[in-house]
Amino acid sequence: LSFTTTLPSSKKFDDPHITLDGTPRAKVTLQSLKTLWINTGTQCNLSCENCYIESNPKNDRLSYFSPDDLHSLLTEIQTQQLPTEEIAFTGGEPFLNPHIIKLLELCLTQGFKVLVLTNAYRVIERHKSSLLLLQQKYPNQLLIRVSLDHYTLAVHEKERGDGTFLSTLETMKWFSDHHFQLAVAGRSLTQESKEVENAGYRELFSLHQINVDINSPKHFTIFPEMDEKKPVPEITEKCFSLLKLDPHSLMCASSRMVVKRKGESTIKVLACTLLAYDPQFELGTSLKNAKQTVFLNHPHCAKFCVLGGATCSQ
Ligand code: SF4
Repeated sequence: LSFTTTLPSSKKFDDPHITLDGTPRAKVTLQSLKTLWINTGTQCNLSCENCYIESNPKNDRLSYFSPDDLHSLLTEIQTQQLPTEEIAFTGGEPFLNPHIIKLLELCLTQGFKVLVLTNAYRVIERHKSSLLLLQQKYPNQLLIRVSLDHYTLAVHEKERGDGTFLSTLETMKWFSDHHFQLAVAGRSLTQESKEVENAGYRELFSLHQINVDINSPKHFTIFPEMDEKKPVPEITEKCFSLLKLDPHSLMCASSRMVVKRKGESTIKVLACTLLAYDPQFELGTSLKNAKQTVFLNHPHCAKFCVLGGATCSQ
């Protein structure tokens, strides 16, 4: 004879399925795998103050992704006839990965759209000739998204370190002059309105003659800041209707991220790009498992994805 007792949770984000007050936790089901993110490795040439994945020159918790790892994923997409349109690369700094050009080429030759996130700080220099070849061969498939945290040197460098602003702008100018599709990701690090932010970036790009379409959400985004110290509410199913938010608009409804953890021989499929280290968001070792429903049991789900500045207190 045995008794099973379910003890109530004693703190928030404890039970994956139920919030602290006993309400069903919000969950998101994968609609279709439109974008497959590859984390190229957590090493970075910068040590930004609030990097959500804690990248820096010494962080190798996620190893460099290899062409063999990618090849097996692309084969899976083909054999399972997945509706994947885009392969996106993030890090760390993707251009530190010694295989980056090969990884991009593997995707481009198979007709995928490719997005690469980069800090564009010095690291592009070594890849310029290879990138030019890719750009000539696949002109409409490759999009480079540069992280430029703010349109002023002072705010950008407070986050990314001295000497990073002008060097990044110089690389952006190179991309622009060579007709790469260029996007920018900023961060809302100040209390400015969206209008002021947009005007600031517009003026900066016009001054340096860098071609970025500020009016296109695909080419210009300002991400909300994640203040780790601020308390957040848990997200229940009711939150979606209260906030009039479609759960299918969240990244975990149309994307997955694949990583290679240090010391492991197999890749891991994760729910999204934001939760690289929490085992609750690991969905197995192949895209077959990617369909699993994701329970929003992490402060990032609330702060970054669902609330983004709104409140959901009922
Ligand atoms: S942080 Fe949570 S809500 Fe946001 S995409 Fe990832 S799993 Fe989904």
